[in-house]
Amino acid sequence: MIDTHAHLNFEKFKDDVGAVLGRAIDKGIKKFIVPSSNLENSKRAVDLARKYPEVYAAIGLHPIHAKEMSINVLQHFYTLLSAPKIVAVGEIGLDYFYLGKSSKYAEYPSKEEQKVVLIEMLKMAQDTRLPLILHCREAYSDLFNIIQNEGIIGPGVIHCFMGDKDIAKKFLDLGFFISFTGNITFGQSLNSIVKYVPTDKILIETDAPYLTPEVYRGKRNEPAYLIEVARKIAEVKKIPLVEVESATDKNAQKLFKI
Ligand SMILES: [Zn+2]
Repeated sequence: MIDTHAHLNFEKFKDDVGAVLGRAIDKGIKKFIVPSSNLENSKRAVDLARKYPEVYAAIGLHPIHAKEMSINVLQHFYTLLSAPKIVAVGEIGLDYFYLGKSSKYAEYPSKEEQKVVLIEMLKMAQDTRLPLILHCREAYSDLFNIIQNEGIIGPGVIHCFMGDKDIAKKFLDLGFFISFTGNITFGQSLNSIVKYVPTDKILIETDAPYLTPEVYRGKRNEPAYLIEVARKIAEVKKIPLVEVESATDKNAQKLFKI
């Protein structure tokens, strides 16, 4: 299996990345994509990819960090792109979840600020012909419209998918993959969308350290728990677990060329 979205570059893993990778490799995880949310952890993702043969990096500016964008930061991203084993731009996208709510983000970026950053990041991906790792919360139609207006047609993945069938179909029609994470194990609410997305279009991920699968709830999530996501997909689709494993491996290899 391949964990296509694990934030091993985040604070929560700063003391024990080696041990975390070891436990996952023992459970049959062969490769790891480490996506980023800002310049600092993009550099860390690149360092991890240099250090560990199984790790690949994605770099980018997440919408919640949109206020960190500047010409200088953008130039740094472009410079960083020459590093080895960068397989995608991400995670990038739109996140309206905290708009108008109080949050830990002192100054939450407006929709407009998020859109400006997203467009810069889409250009960076186009310039380098790298696939996209898209993040989206409560903004699926705006995200789809921007992707369409910018003339983007895959390849890419929309990670931690929580939208409905209509929006899934729109992204599938543009050639995107759809990725599921530990939140599909929280009850039944995502079963119908899991059932809907064809197996040859699904990626699996942990989104570690977040979204710990139900059976491990309360613990820090880590790539060793990826099997729980595959298991739930197999159960919902009524297909053998090995079929989910081999299909999602193939999909990830195809998208990220790893
Ligand atoms: Zn993420």
